[in-house]
Amino acid sequence: MVERPAENRGVGGSSPPWATLNLEFSLIADIKKLLNSQLIGDDAVFLENGIVLSCDSVVEEVHFLKGAPKRAIGFKLISASISDIVCKGGKPKYCLIALHFPRGYPLKEILEIYEGIKEACEHYSVEVVGGNTTRSGLLSLDCFVFGKAKRFVRRSGAKVGDYLYLSASVGNSLAGLYLLKEGKRIYKSFEKKLISWHLKPKVDLRLSRVVSKFATSSIDVSDSLVSELWHLAKESGVRLDVYSKAIPLSPELLKFCKVYGKNPIDFALKSGEEYRVLFTSPYELPYPKIGRVREGEGVFLDGKPLEEDYGYFKHF
Ligand SMILES: [Mg+2]
Repeated sequence: MVERPAENRGVGGSSPPWATLNLEFSLIADIKKLLNSQLIGDDAVFLENGIVLSCDSVVEEVHFLKGAPKRAIGFKLISASISDIVCKGGKPKYCLIALHFPRGYPLKEILEIYEGIKEACEHYSVEVVGGNTTRSGLLSLDCFVFGKAKRFVRRSGAKVGDYLYLSASVGNSLAGLYLLKEGKRIYKSFEKKLISWHLKPKVDLRLSRVVSKFATSSIDVSDSLVSELWHLAKESGVRLDVYSKAIPLSPELLKFCKVYGKNPIDFALKSGEEYRVLFTSPYELPYPKIGRVREGEGVFLDGKPLEEDYGYFKHF
């Protein structure tokens, strides 16, 4: 069994004792087999007429702390959900939202969540066109996104010799979560920025066109950089060589690591909910080039094997 490091336990702080690294992957494989589907298994699915569909969820105590600002929960739900469409080269257009909430949950707080959903929809120019509400033990929301793509880019297309790109800095969300858990009364400005990165991550919609035009494979950083590197390597049947010096880090993360005695590369590798895009391309592009696609298998950091379970965020 793999134990996730304490600082990367999500907001819930505990996982079931039967949690194992491969459980999520084997469950998806079993479902795929049971449903006899060739389409299941990527960030989103590409259907006829350029239609792209995806879904994502936010769950109390898993994706956000009980006392988290309600607007931020709504905003993050939309960012997380559209990120899966953008990283495939698609443009998100419409959302359906399923809301599950406990008996007696204050309606005012639910409406605040929808204020955040509205803010995000205006920011991304997407529209909520329906959904469902139901009673549940915990507060959670599911978002189903409909988008369109001219060219859909899977996880499986990386070619030997391609450059490996990461759209922007990573590590900020985990640092923000760490700071929230510290529960300080007053935060400095770089700390506030990291917290806001964690609470309200933003997706760069311009990446949709970049991926669609130039990428051979692509994935968004939702679980962790390590986990997404492994997905690309495995599903493309290649080896990925990553150079730690090339991984983009924000000045705020560097400052945080200096003040709190943390390793920035460790944070960059483990942090989830970043919604940056990791992609491969044979072209020279104006994005941080963090490595190269080679013949073989596995993921290597500065020439050394990077374990698949490094700081793994378990869903189960
Ligand atoms: Mg994804």
